[in-house]
Amino acid sequence: MFQKLIHWVIGKPQPTHYQLGNSQSCIFCGAYSTNRSDFDIVWEDQEFVAFRDIRPSAQQHMQLIPKTHIESIRKLSQKDVKMPQYLIWVQVRRMEEIGHSILDTFNVPVSKRKMGFHIPPFNSVLHLHLHVQALPYISPIYRLKYPFVRGFGGYEKGFSWFAEIGQAIRILEKGHRVTVAPC
Ligand SMILES: [Zn+2]
Ligand SMILES: [Zn+2]
Repeated sequence: MFQKLIHWVIGKPQPTHYQLGNSQSCIFCGAYSTNRSDFDIVWEDQEFVAFRDIRPSAQQHMQLIPKTHIESIRKLSQKDVKMPQYLIWVQVRRMEEIGHSILDTFNVPVSKRKMGFHIPPFNSVLHLHLHVQALPYISPIYRLKYPFVRGFGGYEKGFSWFAEIGQAIRILEKGHRVTVAPC
């Protein structure tokens, strides 16, 4: 049942999309190394690269990834990435800035912008990726893949498989971990 829900949210995983947790076998690591020509790269610097999603959910849909293999937003903690908490927070804020500047280049009005992370196990590729989108979604059903669930009672976010970028930044700022459960 839970598995079915996951497949519904992220689509049935391709074999190459799923089991991988290291840079040798990671398809997204290929975007900045061996398989660059397979990706439609829209933005790049020393530390990050952004490319068009091969199965867009929205009018514009890009993936922004770090050029370091980090599994997911849930693995963004001091212990996992061996980086001081404030630097993790700075990097995610940087991702937000880059996302906005990409959407600027596509002339997307601020009210039509949506950015955020899927939270394991609701992520199809095990390499941290920020969804950078210009709304509307191509069909209303896609909206459900990227829900914005408001927090309550001190939580930034309620139960959800998606953390909007601002929520993720505020959770990390407090030194907490981004999880499916309220956080
Ligand atoms: Zn990777
Ligand atoms: Zn995702």
